[in-house]
Amino acid sequence: MAQFSFGYDEQGGTRTVGTVDDDRKREREQMVREQIEARGVRGERLLQALREVPRHRFLPPGSEAARHAYEDRALPIRARQTISQPYIVARMTELLELNGDEKVLEVGAGSGYQTAILSRLCREVVAVERLPELAAAARRVLEELGVENVRLVTGDGSEGWPADAPYDAALAAAVAPAVPPALLRQLRPGGRLVMPVGAENGPQKLLRVHVSAEGGAATVEEFGEVAFVPMVGASGFGFPADLGDLDV
Ligand code: SAH
Repeated sequence: MAQFSFGYDEQGGTRTVGTVDDDRKREREQMVREQIEARGVRGERLLQALREVPRHRFLPPGSEAARHAYEDRALPIRARQTISQPYIVARMTELLELNGDEKVLEVGAGSGYQTAILSRLCREVVAVERLPELAAAARRVLEELGVENVRLVTGDGSEGWPADAPYDAALAAAVAPAVPPALLRQLRPGGRLVMPVGAENGPQKLLRVHVSAEGGAATVEEFGEVAFVPMVGASGFGFPADLGDLDV
């Protein structure tokens, strides 16, 4: 992770004289303790990733949102989208049950924060983001943080990303009216998909769908009510009626 220590030359040597900030590590430790462990999320690799990935870096620098980066809520990013609440990122990642060897598809990369967490827990992430401006910002931060096992592409992920299929696991951070069949088709036998399904501005449920080891019938589990922005695309919702897309 990025370190902000600085030093100065003194009699031929460099001595570290302090840190500009501690990269807000203490806030993250508190976030994990109070928002995530306290709600029952387990898995040391996941908790460690959440302690280490600097969530504030995925918010616009100097913004009000960046100041509130470690609070228990979703926050605005750009283009009227949101960075998911830390607990939701943790819970969805936990439900994927990653062991480190997977290729994971992520739909709706947004700020790239969830992408960075996934990148610590699997072999490779293919992340799709519909809005080029968000994709560019996310790519920049991931690069600055030295994340190398992510390919972040721009496009409609409601149809998955067939070019890199099959995936061992998939996660979508935007709500669709139903589970997009293409996402299931792009999973390997035994693969799983975690995503919200429901209404655009109404009740939504977090689902986990398993594709059987033979590649056949899926099993569906429900994990409570959630609130996500819409997945916009062929297997999602239509384009915003107010042409809000133009303000990106
Ligand atoms: N996990 C992200 C959540 C971002 S919000 C974060 O914590 O930052 C959901 C994102 O899904 C938005 O950035 C939105 O632009 C994107 N999105 C919506 N429909 C999409 C689609 N069909 N394909 C890819 N991305 C989509």
